[in-house]
Amino acid sequence: MNAPMRLRFLARAAFFALFVLAPPLDLFRLDLTRGHFLLFGLDWTLDLRGVAPAEAALHLVVRAFLPIALVIGTGVWVAWRYGRVYCGWLCPHFSVVEVINGLMRRASGRVSLWQRQPPPEVQADGTRIHPHPVYWGAVVLAVLGFAFLWAVTLLSYLLPPAEVWGNLLAGRPTRNQALFLGVATGLFAIEFTLARHLFCRYGCAVGLFQSLLWMANPRALVVGFDRRHAEPCLQCDRSCEHACPMLLKPRRIKRHRFTCTQCQRCVQACRDVNLPRGRHVPLQMVSGACALDVSERDFGRRPEVPDDCYRRPHEGRSRSARGRLLEVGEEG
Ligand code: SF4
Ligand code: SF4
Repeated sequence: MNAPMRLRFLARAAFFALFVLAPPLDLFRLDLTRGHFLLFGLDWTLDLRGVAPAEAALHLVVRAFLPIALVIGTGVWVAWRYGRVYCGWLCPHFSVVEVINGLMRRASGRVSLWQRQPPPEVQADGTRIHPHPVYWGAVVLAVLGFAFLWAVTLLSYLLPPAEVWGNLLAGRPTRNQALFLGVATGLFAIEFTLARHLFCRYGCAVGLFQSLLWMANPRALVVGFDRRHAEPCLQCDRSCEHACPMLLKPRRIKRHRFTCTQCQRCVQACRDVNLPRGRHVPLQMVSGACALDVSERDFGRRPEVPDDCYRRPHEGRSRSARGRLLEVGEEG
């Protein structure tokens, strides 16, 4: 695992913990019993009763308009420049997708029940994943465990977490809580088993919003394919495709990778295959003018690619600051 992949693992783990712990720690939740949000332990309310008009307008701007504009504005800027990094580097749903993909591959050889062509057991980098049915137990445990945790977490975003977790730990949830947890766990279990990729691709408004912004910026960060030096692909078994948790084909143009989550697993796979053999790595993160070959190459258009977009093997150790930045997902 290289530095960006380690960083991504830590970011996902930390954000998953934040997702679960935000309500119990009163960092953020909507308390239906009180009828308003809590933010960092403080009541976040627009209670304007008995407030003078000027003060009410100030409350509206400071407590509603500014925080919402700040969150949306930051999200738009990040997605415009870097695409779906929230999905690939933070989203707790995508973490579930990747964990279940890995276990299903160990159980059945396929990362999804719908995958037609299973990836080969032995990858071009020498890694072997031999499927064994015993892993189905781990798949079921992971699906039910994540589904239940998600159901409890969602409930604790709506009701006082001390009550939700306290009742659960005492084994005495109220009738309505038990009903909510039972139905939500069942629905999440179905989605995690059968439709987790479908949800990421077509069901998630946050993902769709990021994809649309990313597509509108042809210079945004993207997985680039050095088609002028693609000889290593002849000796490879499409490791990049087998590594993609969204089941995309990373060497295709950007339009065909609309739902790319910028997780860089394809780039990592390409490095694992080629760097130990001293070969060039055709898949690399690119942006700016270098991204046009992927984003605008379509319907006969062939944009010019600057010569220095892709690092060559001899640049591997003494690579430029620009190369390092691109690797961790920054624009050079
Ligand atoms: S881009 Fe890299 S991982 Fe993908 S087929 Fe070519 S050499 Fe293999
Ligand atoms: S194409 Fe690459 S970066 Fe995009 S989702 Fe697939 S593995 Fe991740």
